[in-house]
Amino acid sequence: MSTIPYKIYLEESEMPKAWYNVRGDMKKKPAPILNPATLKPVTLDELSGIFCRELAEQELDDTSRFIEIPEEIRNFYRMYRPSPLVRAYCLEEKLQTPAHIYYKFEGNNTSGSHKLNSAIAQAYYAKKQGLKGVTTETGAGQWGTALSMACSYFDLDCQVYMVKVSYEQKPFRREVMRTYGAKVTPSPSMETEVGRRINAEFPGTTGSLGCAISEAVEAATSQEGYRYVLGSVLSQVLLHQSVIGLETKAALDKYGIKADMIIGCAGGGSNLGGLISPFAGEILRGEANYEIIAVEPASCPSLTRGKYAYDFCDTGKVCPLAKMYTLGSGFIPSANHAGGLRYHGMSSVVSELYDQGILTARSVEQTSVFEAAEMFARVEGILPAPESSHAIRVAIDEALKCKETGEEKNIVFGLTGTGYFDMVAYQKYNDGEMTDYVPSDEELQKSFAKLPKVD
Ligand SMILES: *Cc1c(COP(=O)(O)O)cnc(C)c1O
Repeated sequence: MSTIPYKIYLEESEMPKAWYNVRGDMKKKPAPILNPATLKPVTLDELSGIFCRELAEQELDDTSRFIEIPEEIRNFYRMYRPSPLVRAYCLEEKLQTPAHIYYKFEGNNTSGSHKLNSAIAQAYYAKKQGLKGVTTETGAGQWGTALSMACSYFDLDCQVYMVKVSYEQKPFRREVMRTYGAKVTPSPSMETEVGRRINAEFPGTTGSLGCAISEAVEAATSQEGYRYVLGSVLSQVLLHQSVIGLETKAALDKYGIKADMIIGCAGGGSNLGGLISPFAGEILRGEANYEIIAVEPASCPSLTRGKYAYDFCDTGKVCPLAKMYTLGSGFIPSANHAGGLRYHGMSSVVSELYDQGILTARSVEQTSVFEAAEMFARVEGILPAPESSHAIRVAIDEALKCKETGEEKNIVFGLTGTGYFDMVAYQKYNDGEMTDYVPSDEELQKSFAKLPKVD
């Protein structure tokens, strides 16, 4: 028996007291975000009209290496953090690999994912600024759930526009949000101008994320004391998610383990960015080397097949423009795609690190992702979210390579959440009805042609 326990926990006193901002260690910074109306870099004042002041400051801060985690947020983190770093002994045994596999499990809270790490920070700054509440959109519902938990903790009003088809298909997500006091509105609704317009134009539409964003932004800007909040992509969200990487690094250091490879799934890039930040920082400072792999769905391959260009962060084109690896803001993954991670672009920080060669990317097809999920669930016990299972897929592939070469690599991956609300996707897989889809070059070219012309 090895001396490394199944679960490596940190003491409360070992938990991070500051978030780490990897931009502070980047010599070449991510390109500035632009005002969609003027195409000039967004100013703090402009950004403060959409986001809370301190969050806008964090968004624009590319020099501070550490930003203190306020005591109130650390107290909330204590309720469900530190999250365990688990040594996947059972998976290693199943694969008969000499590799050592570790995963950082972020699903140990009611919202079921890492999104709570940023939701609580965003709610805190909204409260501190004296706001009444926040608005947001949610697709599958993970972000809306995390935000409603965070808002109820700080007694803030929380208004969630949930894509109508998800609202109807995921009634349990909706009820979790309502239990935490959020007002959940199916989008498009009749409560906003943009919602009424879309309903008139497309009667019976089941909605889209782009439409829900437009409604949430309108709701924020038309009510006194409200701001709009977002659960991924933004640099502030990556900053908050750095708590994942800092804890991971502290836990590894505690047992003198040097990671060789760090793997994370990438939708908008927030969990991946948070997990890898402290490690990427060491690479940037020339202190250590790691192989970092971002894993994305083959049906939504923004890093592996996208363009590095300025694009809209939302389909509604109301948020600032960011330079990122993107498939075009109009890109919608094929309808048979059930595995999540359907965002068209990638965090500008992750995009720039990728462009600099600090990390590599791989795309995987969803049936192979669910095969990995099934194996993982059966041997490690946790039912993983489809999104997280992208990272499991590549961790397994790499562990199998080690079996061939005999290398004893330390493989670390992020297990971002649980899959309890994804049973429709699992059902498709179990019924043998899941198919793969890879967009053609022509399809992507069509979408690239609609990228905004900047400079
Ligand atoms: C939202 C989500 C993701 C993807 O978002 P990122 O911003 O790329 O981290 C991954 N896993 C789970 C469980 C999620 O809820």
